Amino acid sequence: MDLSLGPDGDDFRDMLRAWLEEHLPGDLDEVGVDDDTLFDRRRKWNATLFDAGLAAIDWPTEFGGRAASVLEQLIYNEEFARHGAPGPVNAIGVANIAPAIMTIGTPEQQERFLRPMLRGDEIWSQGMSEPDAGSDLASLSCRAERDGDRFVVNGQKTWNSLGHRADWCQLYVRTDPSAPKHEGITCLLVDMRSPGIEVRPITTIGGSLDFAEVFFTDVEVPVDAVLGEIGGGWHVATRTLGFERAGVAKLSLMLRENYERLLADAGPDRRADPINRQRLVARYIDAELLHLLARRTVSAAMHDRMPGAEASVIKIAWSTMEQRVAETALEVLGIDALTGPWAERLAGSRSLTIAGGTTEVNKNIVGERVLGLPREPKAPA
Ligand SMILES: Cc1cc2nc3c(=O)[nH]c(=O)nc-3n(C[C@H](O)[C@H](O)[C@H](O)COP(=O)(O)OP(=O)(O)OC[C@H]3O[C@@H](n4cnc5c(N)ncnc54)[C@H](O)[C@@H]3O)c2cc1C
Repeated sequence: MDLSLGPDGDDFRDMLRAWLEEHLPGDLDEVGVDDDTLFDRRRKWNATLFDAGLAAIDWPTEFGGRAASVLEQLIYNEEFARHGAPGPVNAIGVANIAPAIMTIGTPEQQERFLRPMLRGDEIWSQGMSEPDAGSDLASLSCRAERDGDRFVVNGQKTWNSLGHRADWCQLYVRTDPSAPKHEGITCLLVDMRSPGIEVRPITTIGGSLDFAEVFFTDVEVPVDAVLGEIGGGWHVATRTLGFERAGVAKLSLMLRENYERLLADAGPDRRADPINRQRLVARYIDAELLHLLARRTVSAAMHDRMPGAEASVIKIAWSTMEQRVAETALEVLGIDALTGPWAERLAGSRSLTIAGGTTEVNKNIVGERVLGLPREPKAPA
């Protein structure tokens, strides 16, 4: 594992620290997407980041990034976490949708969509999951029928993060029901103000509005809104691998932040209790293990080895460890953890083993692609 910084790394870190100390507003402590005022503050902060070339430093320069090295990305993530500075508000757009537009989109699509997405001027959501298609995405049934130079979309999507805020949706639809299920899917870039779209926000157990159900009734979408090829939607879905190769390090920083919050909230008296001490040490070991796993992946990326399926190991470890921190908070803080931020973290952490690929599906990936175990039997298409 080689992560030596060298003088260039130190200069970049100094530059970021100075910039954050000068520009980070003090009112971003409680950032969320469900409250209008907080959301506006996040958008304003996003625009400040963009104008300074710091919204997504891994993006190529022609689209508003800095083409940053893996090491610079690591330093950026560390300094933003240390200062409690949020990144771009379009989290899914910037990390998942933009890479597909950059590599598969037409020059017109790149010119039209990427900068407003990165600046937070236009919010994006990703329409993949349906009530009967989640892990098995290829079984999706929201359909689009060709009618001259447009498609007509009918169907439903669900769990659309930021769906109630979105101006645009990267929507996966079935355009050829007679083709094998992976081949009949197309990806459309859909204007959410189109007639026939109904967005119903979903309230989470924690009371926030993080995502929405979206219903499409005879929604007209121009043919030039296809991303990639007609029938090539599966290829687009698997190409949403970001440029950001230090991304997994963010997860270990988030876990460390929650562990440190718990230590602070426990206070000296509860920390002195021998049982609590054991509980807290177990969480410290979790945080250290995840830190080492993340560093190994970043080191591989610095030496041009893509982490590949090992990222699934980190996703499984991080999501389970976040749940354990929240559960430990309940044990250590007792009734104090039943309201406020720890109650929200306890409820919210349950979603982490589902979002972005469930633990079971990630275990299948680790079994098949990391450990080389026999593939799980597939149902016929
Ligand atoms: C916080 C959050 C944000 C999300 N954001 C978005 C979004 O922006 N856009 C979007 O389209 N979707 C989003 N989703 C949906 C998410 O992608 C799906 O919930 C996820 O893919 C699982 O699909 P499902 O809910 O249909 O569960 P299912 O796929 O029906 O799974 C049900 C259970 O069966 C298990 N299972 C399924 N297949 C296998 C298998 N082959 N082997 C073993 N076990 C299996 C699963 O692990 C799970 O326990 C989000 C979800 C969450 C929680």
